[in-house]
Amino acid sequence: MRPYQPHNSETAFFSAMVTIEPIPLLKDNYAYLVFHGKQTLVIDPSEAAGVLRRVEELGLEVAAVLNTHHHWDHVNGNESIAAKFACPVYGPVGDRDRIAGWTNPLEDGQTLTLAGTRLEVLSIPGHTSNHVALYLPDQRAVFTGDTLFLLGCGRLFEGTPEQMFHSLKRLSALPADTRVYCGHEYTLSNGAFAESLGAAPGLLERLKSEKEKRDRGLPTVPGTIQQEIATNPFLRAPDVKSFADLRRAKDIF
Ligand SMILES: [Zn+2]
Repeated sequence: MRPYQPHNSETAFFSAMVTIEPIPLLKDNYAYLVFHGKQTLVIDPSEAAGVLRRVEELGLEVAAVLNTHHHWDHVNGNESIAAKFACPVYGPVGDRDRIAGWTNPLEDGQTLTLAGTRLEVLSIPGHTSNHVALYLPDQRAVFTGDTLFLLGCGRLFEGTPEQMFHSLKRLSALPADTRVYCGHEYTLSNGAFAESLGAAPGLLERLKSEKEKRDRGLPTVPGTIQQEIATNPFLRAPDVKSFADLRRAKDIF
């Protein structure tokens, strides 16, 4: 794994000519650029202006917009970005009627190559019923939307604890060095909950390093699947019942 390289106060990662850059938007959302040469993908744009500003600064052309799920703070920028670049908008096929600007389906097991980047679609219901992850096997990166957060997981708005438990298991089965890019900067508040449960091995060291990133104004993303398996209480839950209890406790933490 190569070190993260700061890029204008952002954290960008360079591998095989593909760069992944988080764009902080709204209060705590992340959209992502995944670019190869001058072509970029935009993942989960909560708003268009911040994304378009960065795309312009970098001199990029948007080849496609992709959404992990239908919530407004992941799709609100779709239409403006698609109109400017005449590009498609990919989203979960079951959300076609509730994602503005939707043009192309994302379905479990599908593989697609866009802007020189190969993506695999994994169905991970729980936060919403049609939520997907976008896995980039060649980059060892996964975009988990609001399902897996660093040190946490999303609320169960449309799915059951059982669905979410299995979705998290599916993500945790990805290669251990896969970098995790999630939809929100919730790491420190998730960390406070994790700490309240007692110290998992490595948790305190991790919290220290995540706090240092935030103190320097850097995003905590990406984490890795290996770090999450070791320190994320929701991935450490041994069964559905324990997971459901944990999720309920976090809802009122
Ligand atoms: Zn959401």
